[in-house]
Amino acid sequence: MTSRRISRRQAIATGLAGAGAAALGGCGDGAGGTAQSPPADRESASQAGQGVRAVVVGAGAFGGWTALELLRRGARVTLVDAWGPGNSRASSGGETRVIRATYGADRIYSEMVVRALELWKEAGERWNDRLFFETGALWMSDGVDPYATDAVPILADLGVPFEELTGEELGRRYPQINPDGIAYALHEKSAGYLLARRGCQRVLEGFLAEGGEYRQAKAAAGTMTGGAMRDVRLATGETIVADLFVFAGGPWLAELFPGFDPPLVSPTRQEILYFGTPPGRPDLTDAELPVWVETGASLFYGVPGSNYRGFKVADDTRGAPFDPTGGDRAPSPEAIRTGRSYMERRFPAMRGAPLIEARVCQYEQSADGHLIVDTHPEAANAWIAGGGSGHGYKLGPALGEMLAAQALGEREKEPFFGLDRFGG
Ligand SMILES: Cc1cc2nc3c(=O)[nH]c(=O)nc-3n(C[C@H](O)[C@H](O)[C@H](O)COP(=O)(O)OP(=O)(O)OC[C@H]3O[C@@H](n4cnc5c(N)ncnc54)[C@H](O)[C@@H]3O)c2cc1C
Repeated sequence: MTSRRISRRQAIATGLAGAGAAALGGCGDGAGGTAQSPPADRESASQAGQGVRAVVVGAGAFGGWTALELLRRGARVTLVDAWGPGNSRASSGGETRVIRATYGADRIYSEMVVRALELWKEAGERWNDRLFFETGALWMSDGVDPYATDAVPILADLGVPFEELTGEELGRRYPQINPDGIAYALHEKSAGYLLARRGCQRVLEGFLAEGGEYRQAKAAAGTMTGGAMRDVRLATGETIVADLFVFAGGPWLAELFPGFDPPLVSPTRQEILYFGTPPGRPDLTDAELPVWVETGASLFYGVPGSNYRGFKVADDTRGAPFDPTGGDRAPSPEAIRTGRSYMERRFPAMRGAPLIEARVCQYEQSADGHLIVDTHPEAANAWIAGGGSGHGYKLGPALGEMLAAQALGEREKEPFFGLDRFGG
């Protein structure tokens, strides 16, 4: 057992400056294990985390990237996950996720996507693993879709390449799409899709290679005194003492911190369908067909090809409340019927295509659909990151970078993602 002091700078960096000294004495396992030298090629943003022990709970898109970014800033980081990165219960599980900078008038997300895309590409090169597929993305609508049109000036300002098409132009350019009822399409050219569980696993592998420690265990928030958290408790009975904590529990955030009103997240049941294309037919795969989204009475989206998995189709309508641990993940006949009916109308060549795979996942829906990145009201050194609400995966690297910088005192909190917006 050792006890150690942390400097005022570190105290500020970890949000502990005014939080009393209770959490500062280190003992127990210590977070991060043996400190290791950074690899020679590491492009470290700063070393603001030197001497800081951090525990990150949750190795999904949010926790994994945050752990990696804290590590790259010099912190000793232990990442804990109950079932593993991108596991089949996690919201980051499954094959693929759309990445697009079109975000209505919410410029903050478009900016994050621009940065995230750079980091996804950089990660793919660093790890020699293709995680991003640049197919472009099509936003199709009946002509009244502020989510796309409000984004146009933002995309232009950020230098994101795009083109606006009429329904007729869309039909000529993509004869595999039936343009009936579509009056407007926004083609975001540098968008595409990401590998989901593979991405999470790759982040963990990178994290371990750069000196992070991973524990597979269920964790719970530990003692909070004097405005700071002191430790996390593992279901194994162990306690990990640290200076800084990040809880990125995805749909389990409400279980980790049940006292919030509204709840931090409300998981909803979502179904993903994969239909089999006729043999060959590059026009029905990502070789020739972009990722697509159609807004209207319901929002459907899809990822053609989906890394050779099939023609992915999903209904974005929020489903019934769902228990991420024990909820029944058998696909429902109704979702299959609705998805097929939509697909066959919009992509006539897919008529009669067999359903070859289906998954039930959950959105970890925040009360307003926006991310939550803030400290716990009772512990200035315990961060909550979640509320991806059906759109968070792509943002993982940018969120990790932002949160690590905020938690280490290099950057102010972002009020847009703060808990204050819910009042109370
Ligand atoms: C069907 C579907 C489609 C989606 N489509 C898109 C898309 O196209 N584009 C996009 O950008 N986003 C999309 N999203 C949203 C995105 O996938 C999620 O917002 C994002 O993956 C959430 O990541 P997370 O790290 O917060 O949560 P998770 O991935 O759920 O990670 C949380 C982790 O915490 C662990 N954990 C929980 N509790 C504990 C505990 N007590 N102790 C230890 N570990 C714990 C879990 O095992 C899990 O691994 C989609 C989501 C779904 C479900």
